[in-house]
Amino acid sequence: MGAPKHLLEIDGVSMLERVVRALRDSRAGRITVVLRIGDDPGRVLAEALGVPWALAAEPQRGRAASVRAGVEAAEGGAAGLLFALADQPYLLPSDFDSLIDAFASDPRGIVRATYAGEPGSPVLFARRFFAELLSLEPGQGGRVVAARHSESVRNVPLDPHRGRDLDRPEDLSDRSPTTGSAACSGSRDGYSPPSMERTLAIIKPDAVRASQTGAILEAIEASGLRLIALRMLRLSRREAEGFYTVHRAKPFFDSLVDFMTSGPVVVGCLEGEGAIAAYRELMGATDPAQAAEGTLRKRFATNIEQNACHGSDAPETAAVEIRYFFRDLDLVERD
Ligand code: ATP
Ligand code: MG
Repeated sequence: MGAPKHLLEIDGVSMLERVVRALRDSRAGRITVVLRIGDDPGRVLAEALGVPWALAAEPQRGRAASVRAGVEAAEGGAAGLLFALADQPYLLPSDFDSLIDAFASDPRGIVRATYAGEPGSPVLFARRFFAELLSLEPGQGGRVVAARHSESVRNVPLDPHRGRDLDRPEDLSDRSPTTGSAACSGSRDGYSPPSMERTLAIIKPDAVRASQTGAILEAIEASGLRLIALRMLRLSRREAEGFYTVHRAKPFFDSLVDFMTSGPVVVGCLEGEGAIAAYRELMGATDPAQAAEGTLRKRFATNIEQNACHGSDAPETAAVEIRYFFRDLDLVERD
């Protein structure tokens, strides 16, 4: 056996850490990492992250033991308990928040994520189910309690691509390209990108500072791509680090984060046929010295880092990046 699955890394960040970070950035309250006995590396990681941990005693009880440890760790006053799995590393803070919002409107129920209509994780249980969760049979998980109380269950559909779990180390290598930001690439589940696509565009601080926002938007519109959302903001360090997390191990990472937080950016969502490739073509090569004549980077970039614009590089990363800045309601329908 290799490393425990939750310690496997995607672009240099372990699955467990990814899930803890997403929970931290959500409205979830206290977080506890439930560990199997002997999972010392897991404990060291939880401590490094500053997150309390609990041991699932009686390992022969399987999932029931983990559920029990989670319930016992819940704060006395907690209205509910959300069970998140370390093997769903692509869920976003907003996914957890969708469940928490649904729960807030009826804090006596059970809220469950569904993917394309199929029930899945995470699941959030109101306090009144805690006793039942503590008395599960060996091997049973929280889903049994949800099934028993189907009248109290509210389903919250989440994006199946973000909710997929990584069951095999091969799944991980499928999704660990060595370069680029395609952290979620891979299509073993048969996903084929629609011809009408959306992509995230960022006008970076150098171009905003140089008053090139209008010219870049003009070029975008002239290319036939439609803007369906637009806003200006200044990224915090944490937001910039999160956005470029696939580059965390690169030597230029700190400098990239310095640059991206050095001033306001303009973020937009673009829509069109093959929008992802179309916008990358309009931007040109990362390094302006290599960029073709007429491209945005040839026209506006200063160097390989201060290169005026960003565009998503694959449908999966586009979906994650768009959600990083926009709620579904922010994306307008264009005629
Ligand atoms: P983006 O993701 O911003 O659209 P990209 O996909 O063309 O750009 P990436 O390889 O994803 O390029 O790099 C992300 C960003 O990191 C680049 O746009 C640039 O700002 C910065 N960067 C990339 N390579 C270097 C480098 N060698 N030195 C300094 N900064 C770099
Ligand atoms: Mg990129």
